[in-house]
Amino acid sequence: MIRENLEAVEKNIQEACQRAGRDRKDVTLIAVSKTKPLSDLMKAYEAGARAFGENKVQELVEKMPQMPDDVHWHMIGHLQKNKVKYIVGKVDLIHSVDNTGLLEEINKRAEKAGVKQDILIEVNIADEDTKYGVRADEAEEFYVNAMSFPYVNVRGLMCIAPNAENPELNRQYFVKLKKIYVDIMNRIGHNSRVDVMSMGMTGDYQVAIEEGATMVRVGTGIFGARNYNSE
Ligand SMILES: *Cc1c(COP(=O)(O)O)cnc(C)c1O
Repeated sequence: MIRENLEAVEKNIQEACQRAGRDRKDVTLIAVSKTKPLSDLMKAYEAGARAFGENKVQELVEKMPQMPDDVHWHMIGHLQKNKVKYIVGKVDLIHSVDNTGLLEEINKRAEKAGVKQDILIEVNIADEDTKYGVRADEAEEFYVNAMSFPYVNVRGLMCIAPNAENPELNRQYFVKLKKIYVDIMNRIGHNSRVDVMSMGMTGDYQVAIEEGATMVRVGTGIFGARNYNSE
């Protein structure tokens, strides 16, 4: 099923790009493989997936060495400072940076590893108590501050929209993230290294693409429902 699911997602992405007059190449699909066994990741890999997203450091570091070298890894979940050292320099992108302590730790570990770590600023776009992320009205200041860390490359913004039965209900939040992004671009000067808007999941990635997402994070739509009972 994974191959068929991936093909269906790919078709949906292409159609959303077409509707929005966007180039398919400007949207990266991240296969969110959290809780799923390596055999499932390999099926997705064989069907063409090259970017994988995980939300737990331990699971990420376990899976990474077991997958082919050309896989790009994305840390999409809440990150604790004490786990930063395990992933800096190993993941392409950390999507979930939302506090200065975390920035300092990433900067320190990246310097030590001799790398510049790409990150995104996570914005709590619908101001939900249950979600991480900086407040929408603080995102720009936080972003500009994050740019002062020499071993950190701030590449853009990420958000997790609310759980919604109807994806149209989330369009407003994608529009809102895009506006914050454009405001930041206007402030810092357009810069080709700042090019990422990570937004949209299984329930709403087509709408997110219509509103400018450059990365969509799709789990269930590729791998099927997750079973958390074993955790
Ligand atoms: C789990 C997760 C996803 C994927 O969710 P689906 O609804 O299964 O597509 C995307 N982003 C983040 C941050 C996640 O934790």
